[in-house]
Amino acid sequence: MTFAEKPKPVAYCAGCNMPASIEVVGTSCRNGDCNGTYKGAGAADEWMRCAACDGTGKVGTAFCETCHGSGWTPVRP
Ligand SMILES: [Zn+2]
Ligand SMILES: [Zn+2]
Repeated sequence: MTFAEKPKPVAYCAGCNMPASIEVVGTSCRNGDCNGTYKGAGAADEWMRCAACDGTGKVGTAFCETCHGSGWTPVRP
């Protein structure tokens, strides 16, 4: 079985993990109350497939809140 794996995000918010586009790196997150700053995602191994949705961005028919629908979560030290 194959499924379309989503491309890894190029940037994400350090506060809430919200995936973002490269243009917003260094700016503040606009996700609700989050005061985080967007960072470049860097190397591919800084991301792992979201365990909650198995990389699909959805849990059943619902939007995956763990990865904000991106299918990926940042690996943190
Ligand atoms: Zn944020
Ligand atoms: Zn997910």
